[in-house]
Amino acid sequence: MLILGGTAEARALATALAGLPGVSPISSLAGRVADPALPAGQVRIGGFGGADGLAGWLTGERIDAVVDATHPFAATISWSAAQAAATAAIPILALRRPGWNQGPGDDWRRHPSLSAAAQALAGLAADRVFLTIGRTGLAPFAGLDEHWFLIRSIEPPEAPLPPRRQVLLARGPFTVPDEVALMRQHRIGVLVTKDSGGPLTEAKLVAARELGLPVLLIERPPVPDVPAVATVEQARDWVALLAGTPAQPD
Ligand code: NAP
Repeated sequence: MLILGGTAEARALATALAGLPGVSPISSLAGRVADPALPAGQVRIGGFGGADGLAGWLTGERIDAVVDATHPFAATISWSAAQAAATAAIPILALRRPGWNQGPGDDWRRHPSLSAAAQALAGLAADRVFLTIGRTGLAPFAGLDEHWFLIRSIEPPEAPLPPRRQVLLARGPFTVPDEVALMRQHRIGVLVTKDSGGPLTEAKLVAARELGLPVLLIERPPVPDVPAVATVEQARDWVALLAGTPAQPD
């Protein structure tokens, strides 16, 4: 069983599958982070060389099924996985956490891309920006020299970066009181984030609501049409069914 990982859900699934008789999960990480949180069990690190490389790897390792538990914005590997599983003629399941839902009091403005969000920023009165989109993809914001950015990422962000900025290296989960304090401390006027979903990084959205701040939310990229579930338990049950092992109670 190959788990394409790099997320908290992928790690939880590796732990859940490690206890299933007849199932040997191998977790795969891209190798982007120097000190990754490692899943339980066997782990491999690094790209496969596109869909063809992955298909060859699946066949060579005699993999029976794939769970794509990658981040919702990691679309390239999801498309590769769908194509490779079809080539290798093995089943694939996507474990996709739901996106965040706007609630009363939220001022969210959805944008289809990072470039669109950067353009929208130029038209906003708020000039102090909390940018939490990860360490890549910052180029569209690099030309905004009227704005000041608090850039938060786990690893140092990749150039080009906006000229007026402070970089904060931190890994979630974050709490609402801490996010409120951080945004107050830096007099943030607008939050820019991806619609990653999940509880680990949701606190910034609650904090923005409490402070009455607008949020520029980057919409998810298109993903392949493969069978999908939303929870680790559902993914574990799918594997258990394939392996002929009765599902365990939650
Ligand atoms: P991506 O754009 O979809 O993938 C780029 C390339 O990286 C893929 O073509 C593949 O190389 C390799 N790759 C990606 N995930 C892999 C995995 N789990 N195992 C082996 N190779 C992988 O992905 P990304 O956005 O750079 O994200 C990289 C990893 O970070 C993913 O595993 C994802 O779950 C995690 N992550 C991403 C984000 C985000 O915002 N994008 C946030 C949190 C975590 P080959 O073509 O050579 O196979």
